[in-house]
Amino acid sequence: MTLERERLDADVLIVGAGPAGLACALHLAKLIERHNQAGGQPPLSAENIYVLEKGREIGAHQLSGAIMDPRALTELVPDWEKTAPIESAVTGDAAYVLTSSRAWKLPITPPPLRNHGNYVVSVSKLVKWLGGLVEKAGVNLFTQFAGARLIYEGDAVAGLFTEDKGVNKDGQHKDNFTPGYELRAKVTVLAEGPRGSLTKDVVQRLKLDGLNPQVYGIGIKELWEVPAGRIEAGYVAHTLGWPLDSSMYGGGWLYGLGNNRVSVGMVVSLDYHDPRFDPHQAFQKYKTHPFIRHILEGGKLVRYGAKTLPYGGWYSMPRPYAGGALIIGDSASLLNSQRLKGIHTAIKSGMLAAETVFESLKAGDASAAALSAYPKKIEQSWIRKELRAVRNFHQGFHNGLYAGLFHAGIQLVTGGRGLIDPMRARAGHEEYGKIGRVEPPQERFKGDGALTFDRLTDVYHSGTRHEEDQPSHLLVTDLNICIERCSNEYGNPCQFFCPAAVYEMVKADGGWKPKINASNCVHCKTCDIADPYQIIEWVPPEGGGGPNYEGM
Ligand code: SF4
Repeated sequence: MTLERERLDADVLIVGAGPAGLACALHLAKLIERHNQAGGQPPLSAENIYVLEKGREIGAHQLSGAIMDPRALTELVPDWEKTAPIESAVTGDAAYVLTSSRAWKLPITPPPLRNHGNYVVSVSKLVKWLGGLVEKAGVNLFTQFAGARLIYEGDAVAGLFTEDKGVNKDGQHKDNFTPGYELRAKVTVLAEGPRGSLTKDVVQRLKLDGLNPQVYGIGIKELWEVPAGRIEAGYVAHTLGWPLDSSMYGGGWLYGLGNNRVSVGMVVSLDYHDPRFDPHQAFQKYKTHPFIRHILEGGKLVRYGAKTLPYGGWYSMPRPYAGGALIIGDSASLLNSQRLKGIHTAIKSGMLAAETVFESLKAGDASAAALSAYPKKIEQSWIRKELRAVRNFHQGFHNGLYAGLFHAGIQLVTGGRGLIDPMRARAGHEEYGKIGRVEPPQERFKGDGALTFDRLTDVYHSGTRHEEDQPSHLLVTDLNICIERCSNEYGNPCQFFCPAAVYEMVKADGGWKPKINASNCVHCKTCDIADPYQIIEWVPPEGGGGPNYEGM
């Protein structure tokens, strides 16, 4: 039976209310206002800009380190310092190499990790503030709506369908069933963050891949309240080394926020070799290092979150346009993985996309040829200069930390070129070593409940909530592969890489089969990325579900 769907027509549909999507909406609304005030033709309206956000409110799904380079925000909102919710200006920074018991401070902080002039922010609070400006500018912002699938007309994107609400876990309609909307738009801007489901679809369908496949990292973070005097607000420390071994790319951080709060976290590149490596457990271990412990001990865990970040950089950037569509921010691989910063490039790409859309609306032309102005604008902006200078950075670490530092040094003096340019990369899931059959663990890491925690305790602190009676949003296309091949080749890494205890192997029929606790999912997308057979597909659950990263 074909469902009757309400159809709405917009000029522009922006999917995702993160820094990129909101910057795009705000800049476009300002351009439209100036155009109308000057009597420009045709008249345009900010009310015809729709922003969709799947979280229960703006900021609910926003997680980041986060140290912000204010460069792009200054271009977007020149007087942001008057009203933006900033935790602190960076007051000091340092870089350390950790062994299991010692922390060696580098005599000078490497230039990419120097943060003078930058700000410690809660990205969740920042986008809530930006969302207020966007609404004030007359844009329509819809929370608790996810983009379920794109509408294509030939090779062009013509909008999307939002998800149906009120479907039970067997796919039957419940009493509160509401069909998703058919949202048509002249231009659909994908600002979904890393590994967006719609972005993945359009990139695969229209073959928009960059030179290299995207390589991701997983970041795991906790927010703590600690006794007074432990850490100065604005103090930033980055660490390399323990507990990661030298074959892995990653590191940790400690940032001092205001009111005796501390952000502590770790990022690990999802191209490690051991399929039983557990990023959550490694992060818990990280907190037991004396350097971290002396800050946190006696304090209390306030919030938890996990998300992936696109490490691939310039050479992993997909072609960021198609007929009727643009890709911006992390979805377009615009994070600077050397500086571990992407808020500024996300905001700038949103602004450049807004300028492209504005020209397209005025000309009444949203073809691929018209929207190809967007990557040209990126090429002419400071984004190119910044990202080209680190274009081979992550690839240099393919053979481990020491080789990576060697390559990074050469790249620094050659403007990013290094010894090989372009340096190629493989998708991270191809890097696992086969380990043969290994029984699932009998016991999982429990933590001491004071400094270290099990995954369920952490999920509780992420504020994650989903409607329980709905179809699973984690689609495993062939469970037999999990049971018959993955168990015998890789030992089911999903049990280990998921930072929210979603995947478990349980005894069944004399063997083991996966059990999926979808309601724990914190929407990090790691499973979609790191599954060795690429048979897990993350699709958006009913809008409003997922974590609540308030204050993170
Ligand atoms: Fe992340 Fe996938 Fe686990 Fe959800 S199920 S928390 S997306 S790894």
